[in-house]
Amino acid sequence: MLDTPIFLAQMKRNQWLTGSALRKISEKKLISLIAHARSSVPFYKKSLGGIPMRSIDDLQSLPILSKTDVRDNAGSFVSSSCSKRALHATYTSGSTGIQVPLFYSHAESAYGVAFETHHLTECGAGIFDLQVRIAHYESRPNLLQCLGVFRCRYLDVRADETETLLRLASLRPGILISYPSILLPLARINSSEGLNLRLKLALSGGETLTPMARNEISSSFSCPVFDRYGSMESSWVAWECKEGSLHIQEDMVVVEIVGQHGKNLPDGKVGTIVVTPLWRRAMPFIRYSLGDSGSFGPPCTCGRGLRTLRVARGRQDDILVLPSGKTRSARSINLMDDIPGMLSYQIIQEQPSLFVFRYVPSDGLGEKERKEVESRIRAGCLGEEIRVEFEEVPSIVRGRTGKIQTVVSKMKADSGKGV
Ligand SMILES: [Zn+2]
Repeated sequence: MLDTPIFLAQMKRNQWLTGSALRKISEKKLISLIAHARSSVPFYKKSLGGIPMRSIDDLQSLPILSKTDVRDNAGSFVSSSCSKRALHATYTSGSTGIQVPLFYSHAESAYGVAFETHHLTECGAGIFDLQVRIAHYESRPNLLQCLGVFRCRYLDVRADETETLLRLASLRPGILISYPSILLPLARINSSEGLNLRLKLALSGGETLTPMARNEISSSFSCPVFDRYGSMESSWVAWECKEGSLHIQEDMVVVEIVGQHGKNLPDGKVGTIVVTPLWRRAMPFIRYSLGDSGSFGPPCTCGRGLRTLRVARGRQDDILVLPSGKTRSARSINLMDDIPGMLSYQIIQEQPSLFVFRYVPSDGLGEKERKEVESRIRAGCLGEEIRVEFEEVPSIVRGRTGKIQTVVSKMKADSGKGV
């Protein structure tokens, strides 16, 4: 029961340490985690072999772990020091569609709660502010929440946006937490219907928050919007401070930016984001690739010693195959948030030269907006000859985790043919 306050106290204290003091903390935890994994986790007994681990720099000598490694060997990632019956289990698929089973102990589940509480309070939330979370799940209130501290209400991510907004208007929360693809349509309806719901702050995560979406959410709800970064496998990795920097929770997770051969890149260089959560012992993830690109940013003016992260737009999972056979990241055309007339959208590449633009209308798309959508998709396809069809839909089907996969390609990158 004390796991959350212990994590929280460490986060509050450590954030103001210097970079070198933070590095010492994470290095000590990392060396201990690797020793634990080597001695009790079958997968790492084999994969880490006798590679020496004396400092954080040695981490880059270890192999990178992918989603498929975990999916194909799930059972061999669980530490023999844990009783499997005492562990909780969940699955993640994410935008790759690759299901990764996750096992975690009760104590480990406290990390995510502590991280969020830390983030909210650093951004100005009060302990008695009501939080509303629009999500695909609902957690039971913990002891503090039963006493009215950090109260949280859950609304279903699949509900109709107008209904959700009316619920919000009656609940009057101070804090709203969801994906940007949920917050943005709510902001648009809030403005267009004149509901003028105001918030103390909004917390976004799980998908890319574009500057346009941030501005629109912020202006509609008259509140600041804070972003955070993570995945189901790693839990939260970084959070945005009031100065706008995404701070890595360095005392709890090691983040590396790696190049093609798995070696660390210098600060500022964009590479693949690889994480090692230091608190995850029941099923350790060592050098786990999240499939995103990013770089380390400069120190933040807020004075925290925690390093900053810049996440480049784009998961690496979605690959478009163009008519010429060239491949592109699907996110190269994921920039439609500012086009008026719709609440949400999804782009599906049905064939190399055919894209279907499905959208939920607000006012509807006029000729000018359709042309704009078409020209952006074409630009994302490097000007190749493609056709765009428009389809008005009542809602966009969300994935199992409640996220919208904005760009879906039905092509296989290796063949260029539809599947
Ligand atoms: Zn900062």
